[in-house]
Amino acid sequence: MAELYPAPFAHLLKRMFVEYEREGKIFDLPKRKFYNADPTLDTSVRMHGHPASSPLGPAAGPQDQMAQNIVLAWLAGSRILELKTIQINDELKIPRPCIDAHNIGYNIEWSQELKLEQSLREYVAASMLIDILKSSGMAGIEQSPEKSQTIFDMSVGYDLAGISTPRVRRWIESMKDASAIVEELRRQIPEEFRSLRALDFNRQLSDTITLSTFHGCPAHEIESIVDFLLREMGVHVIIKLNPTLLGKTAVDYLLHDVMGYHEIQTEQEFFDKDLQFEQALEVCARLDKTARSLGRKLGVKFSNTLVVLNHSKFFPSSERVMYLSGQPLHVVTLNLVKKWRDAVRNAYPISFSAGIDAQNFGNAVAMHFTPITTCTDLLRPGGYGRLPNYMQKLENRMKEMGVTRLRDFILFYEGNAEKALDHTLAEADRAISTRAAGRESRMHRLLHSFASDLRSSLRQRLPTQECILKFMEATPSVDGLPEMKLELINLCDAVAAEAGLLNTDSIVERTTGDERYHAKNNRSTPRKIGSHLYLFDCINCDKCVPVCPNDANFIYETEPCSFDYTNYRVVNQDLRVEPGGHFEIKAAHQLATFQDFCNECGNCDVFCPEDGGPYVEKPRLFGSVPAFEKWASYDGFLVEIGNHVERVRARIQGEEFLLEVDPLGNRSRFRTEYAEVEFEYSTRQPIAYRLFQNVDEAAVNMENYLIMDSVLRGVLNPKCVNYINVKTIPLPVR
Ligand code: SF4
Ligand code: SF4
Repeated sequence: MAELYPAPFAHLLKRMFVEYEREGKIFDLPKRKFYNADPTLDTSVRMHGHPASSPLGPAAGPQDQMAQNIVLAWLAGSRILELKTIQINDELKIPRPCIDAHNIGYNIEWSQELKLEQSLREYVAASMLIDILKSSGMAGIEQSPEKSQTIFDMSVGYDLAGISTPRVRRWIESMKDASAIVEELRRQIPEEFRSLRALDFNRQLSDTITLSTFHGCPAHEIESIVDFLLREMGVHVIIKLNPTLLGKTAVDYLLHDVMGYHEIQTEQEFFDKDLQFEQALEVCARLDKTARSLGRKLGVKFSNTLVVLNHSKFFPSSERVMYLSGQPLHVVTLNLVKKWRDAVRNAYPISFSAGIDAQNFGNAVAMHFTPITTCTDLLRPGGYGRLPNYMQKLENRMKEMGVTRLRDFILFYEGNAEKALDHTLAEADRAISTRAAGRESRMHRLLHSFASDLRSSLRQRLPTQECILKFMEATPSVDGLPEMKLELINLCDAVAAEAGLLNTDSIVERTTGDERYHAKNNRSTPRKIGSHLYLFDCINCDKCVPVCPNDANFIYETEPCSFDYTNYRVVNQDLRVEPGGHFEIKAAHQLATFQDFCNECGNCDVFCPEDGGPYVEKPRLFGSVPAFEKWASYDGFLVEIGNHVERVRARIQGEEFLLEVDPLGNRSRFRTEYAEVEFEYSTRQPIAYRLFQNVDEAAVNMENYLIMDSVLRGVLNPKCVNYINVKTIPLPVR
C-alpha cells in the first residue's frame, strides 16, 4: 500500500493562487463548480449552537482527510465538514483497492491513513486555506460572511483505551485550540503572500466530535467513551449508530423483498454483536442527562455503513466482510430513523449520512437533519463538482415553494405545519405547568397569542419571520420583555423541528417505494471500452481527475511526436549504434498521478473507460526524494529543478535511470546503472559516454530516455498547474 505524503503548506497555498489565476481552477475544480450561494435565501442551520451556512458536507471519509480534499469540499458548498476519523492506531495496513463505487457503494477502509500529527496539521492547514479563500475575494467566494460560516466536526474512534491515551487527548485539545499549529503554518506563508500572514485565522477549530465505534462495539464501551468525551474533553458529541439497530429481519426484508438486492447478505452475528435498539435508547437517555448537566449537547448519527458479506470480486477474497453504502443504505437508514423517531420523537438532534445525493438532499433537510453528509456520491464522475447541485436543487425547491428560510421549507414541505404547531404548543403547555408563574407565565400567554397569529400565517404559507416581526410591532405588552423575540424565534424553530419529525413518515414511505433506490435501477457499471492504458495517450475523457478524492490525478501537456530512434551500446571506449524502435505520443493532453496523494483506493480505475487503472499505468510522480526512495518497488518519476538543470529520476520496470537536461546549454545527460551518455539535447546526437562499475559494455535504451524527457517537459510545462511545477511557476502579480 502506498503512503500519503501531505504537501507543504506553502505549496498548497501557492498552487491555489497560481492555478486560479492561470486556469480558473483550484485543486482541479473549475470555477464554474464553486458553490455560489443565492444571497436571497437563508439556508443556515445551527449545530450544537454553532452557526453553519448550510447543513451540507462530506461524511468522515476519503473526501476530508488531506487539506486539499477539505478545501475542495468547501469550495463546492460544504459548510459542515465531518473530518476523517482519527484513532490511536495510525499505522494501519488497509488492503487495496478499498473503495468500490461501481454502482451502489462498498468499502473496506476506515480511519485516517495519516499519522495523528499529520491529520492535525492537514485539518488546521485546510481551515487556514479556507480562511484565506474567504478573505481573498477569489471568484464565487466573495460572499457575505453568512454564506461561508463553516463548522469542522471531529470524528474519533474506536475504543476508550485508544481515545483516552495522552496522544489522542492532546490531538483533541489541539483541535479545540489550534493556536500553536496556526502560528507554525503562518510562518510558512511565503514572502510573496506576506499580507496573508496578518489574517486572523480561526484557532478554535472544533468542539464537536462524532464518535465512530467498531461494528460490534459493546454498549458499555460506547457509553464510557461518550462520558469521557463529555466530561474530560469538554466537547459536544454525536454517537454514530449502526444500521443493524433496525434488526436483521427488517434489514433483509428491505434489501431483498423491497429493493431486490438479493446478492447482499447479512449474518445474524453482525446484528447480535452490535448495540441493541433498547440499549441504544437507554445509553442515550443516560448520556443526554450527563451532557445537559455539563452544558454540552448530545446527538445521534444515522448511520454507519452496513456490514455485509464480501461477495464482490473487487476486494481481496481475504476480506470476509465489506461495508455497504449508497442507495440501499439510504432506504435502510431512513427506516431506522423512522423507528428511532417513533420511539423517542425529537429527543436528540439527528445527523444523517447514508446514500445522500442531489436528488434526496432536500428530503433530508425537510426531516430536520443536521448535518447532512455525503460520501459515496462524491466518488462518482464529477467528484466534488457534484456538490453544488445539492444546494442548487434545494434553492430551486425553496423558490418554487416561495420560502426564503429552511425553517419555512421544513414547515411547508409536507403540509405538516399546523399539526406541528399543535404538538409544540401542547409540549410548551406541559412544560409551563410545572414552572413558576409571574414573568414566565406572562411570556407563555404572549406565546399563545403569537401562536394564533402564527397559525393563520402558516395557513397562508407566509414567512414565519414576518409573522414574528409583525407580532413584535403590534403587541405593546412585549415591552419590558427583551427576550420575547428570541422566544418567538425558538417557538418557530421548535415547530419546524416538529414538522421535520412529522415529515419523516411520508418521506420514508415514499423513498422506500421509490424505484430509483431499487436493485434493478442500480445494476449498471461504468462502461469499459476494451483498450488498455499505457504510459501516454488514452481517450482523454479526464474522468480520473475529479473522481480521485485526493486530487492525485492531474493533466499535463507534452509535445506530440512520432519518429524512429536508435539505441546505443557503450563497449569499452566505443559507442555503437543498435536497432531502436518507434516512439510516438499522439496527443498533447496527458494524464499522470501525483503519487504522494495516491492511497491506491482504486476509484479512478473503476471509472476509467480503459483497463489497467490510471494510478497504475500512467506516470507516477513522486513529490520528494524520501518518497521516491522508500517506494522502490514502484515504477515512477521524481522531477527536480537544479541550477539551470532540470532533472528526472525514473524507475522503469524496476530499473533506475537519471536524465539531466540543460536547456540553455543544449545538453542532456542520460545515466543508466552501467553507463552514461551525454547528448546535444536538440538533436539527441551523442557527444560523450562512459561506463561504470567495471563493466566492459552496457546497453543504452533510448526509449527510456524519450519517456523521461517527455514526462519531464510535460510535467514542468506551466500551461497546466500541478504540485510539481507550481514550485517553478512565477507568482501572479498581486
Ligand atoms: S486515464 Fe482513463 S479516465 Fe483518465 S483520461 Fe484517460 S481514459 Fe479517461
Ligand atoms: S489516483 Fe486513483 S487510486 Fe489513487 S487515490 Fe486517486 S482515485 Fe484512488
